[in-house]
Amino acid sequence: MRSSPSSDNAMPGHFVDGNTTIIIGGGLTGLTAGCVLSRAGRRVRLFERDAEVGGLSKTVVRNGFRFDLGGHRFFTKDAEVNAFVKELLSDELIEVSRSSKIYLNAKFFDYPLKPVNALFGLGMGTTFRAIADYGLQRAGCLFGEKEPVSLEDWVVSRFGRTMFNIYFRDYSEKVWGIDCSRISAEWVAQRIHGLSLSKAIKNAFFRFSGSDLPTLTDRFYYPATGIGRIAERLQEEIELTNEVCTRSGVEQINHDGRTIRSVYVGNHCESGPVRGGEFVSSMSLPRLVQLLNPAPPDEVLEAASRLRFRDLVVVTVMVDCPRVTDQTWIYIQDKGIPFGRIHEPTNWSRKMAPEGKSLLVAEFFSTKGDPVWNDSDENLVSTTVSHLAGLGFIRKEEVVDSCVVRAVGAYPLFEVGYEKSCAVLRDYLGRFRNLHLAGRIGLFKYYNMDHAIASGMNAAAEIMARARGAETPPGDGGERILVGSGL
Ligand SMILES: Cc1cc2nc3c(=O)[nH]c(=O)nc-3n(C[C@H](O)[C@H](O)[C@H](O)COP(=O)(O)OP(=O)(O)OC[C@H]3O[C@@H](n4cnc5c(N)ncnc54)[C@H](O)[C@@H]3O)c2cc1C
Repeated sequence: MRSSPSSDNAMPGHFVDGNTTIIIGGGLTGLTAGCVLSRAGRRVRLFERDAEVGGLSKTVVRNGFRFDLGGHRFFTKDAEVNAFVKELLSDELIEVSRSSKIYLNAKFFDYPLKPVNALFGLGMGTTFRAIADYGLQRAGCLFGEKEPVSLEDWVVSRFGRTMFNIYFRDYSEKVWGIDCSRISAEWVAQRIHGLSLSKAIKNAFFRFSGSDLPTLTDRFYYPATGIGRIAERLQEEIELTNEVCTRSGVEQINHDGRTIRSVYVGNHCESGPVRGGEFVSSMSLPRLVQLLNPAPPDEVLEAASRLRFRDLVVVTVMVDCPRVTDQTWIYIQDKGIPFGRIHEPTNWSRKMAPEGKSLLVAEFFSTKGDPVWNDSDENLVSTTVSHLAGLGFIRKEEVVDSCVVRAVGAYPLFEVGYEKSCAVLRDYLGRFRNLHLAGRIGLFKYYNMDHAIASGMNAAAEIMARARGAETPPGDGGERILVGSGL
């Protein structure tokens, strides 16, 4: 047994020289940084807490069935990221058409919202109310528009209150688990950047090209054996010259006030601090701050404690039936149905299930410790099967197997005021010249896979620039991509 973590100086420990980069986290961000550095001939040690790499972008394999933690499509506008992934996966990538629906009031509507459906699918009374309401909203803005603070303010100002109540409120509260008035407007502005009711109407009625609006994109790439193949390929590349240590959670990060010196790794083969010259962190930003030794000032720890995540419980049901739906994703708005989204992996790639069989994956947005998270696997499966049968997708007797996976830290929770807390942490961490923050949970940003990959590339570029003597400020790598593509 190794001794408990304490001051780096007090421990003789495991020594890795100053030219080595220590990478915390084996999701796409950490793996990309590791791959780019390894290809450039640099020494790298990557520590991943879980038994396998991939983080949120992994594919679970069970008795010939394969599923992602919520279907992950690869889409990017960044040519470098696109070329990187295409070169890595080459002929393993397939092209998939996207077609998604929203289930609401016992009806299926096209997703992204098509105004013809959204406006006219709910009965004439509601349609008139929505249009009148939107008109009033826009007229009110002529007398001065207030800066929106919350998701509710932002959506109401662009779509009107009726549309907000019908299409945004319940689903957003399902995803985030908090009232829409507590979700930051900054987040929603990034996510549905460029969309408004008037633009959506133009898109539907005047064949306005939506190609510049990423939320309307309808084709994407996907590895034929599941999204986790990207992480596997990155791991293979790193392991040509370097080491990826799984089941190796970093438990303490030692520093001298200006430089990170070493990390403690909670596994059985490391008996002391692991030193390095450069450190890339793609683990949770608030958790990183809490692991610093010596500890940061109280106000920094308090800011860290204000940043929270939303977690995810994924319930997969395998069925003895070749095809259940014809959709990429189906979003479930109704509060009476506890999961928020389903997808059928065999619609993405036939290789995701044995011949003649299929599977449905239901995403329950949850917070660790809440009733959904704590529910037994048996109950979660039986609830999922009942609702899927109720929706008409499956018959109970077709179910041949099931699997429940709980994922922590699935979504940074963008509560009003989160930017201030992030700024406090980033300001404090800025003193460590050899610490490179990257990735979705690492930067507390709503990053998709392409952002994560770009962020890993940029962390590697910063390190290589520092090695050449060209000092660049460490930090956020992914800013060049502004608009996401996922959920
Ligand atoms: C339901 C869902 C659907 C999504 N769909 C899409 C999609 O369709 N398209 C898309 O582009 N993106 C999608 N995304 C986003 C995508 O999953 C992320 O952008 C990407 O996986 C982030 O990678 P990352 O490496 O930054 O973070 P993560 O995947 O969170 O990786 C961080 C890693 O750090 C490890 N770690 C944490 N703490 C420690 C520690 N102390 N020591 C060592 N290791 C540690 C974790 O185990 C994890 O492996 C989706 C996300 C979710 C939740």
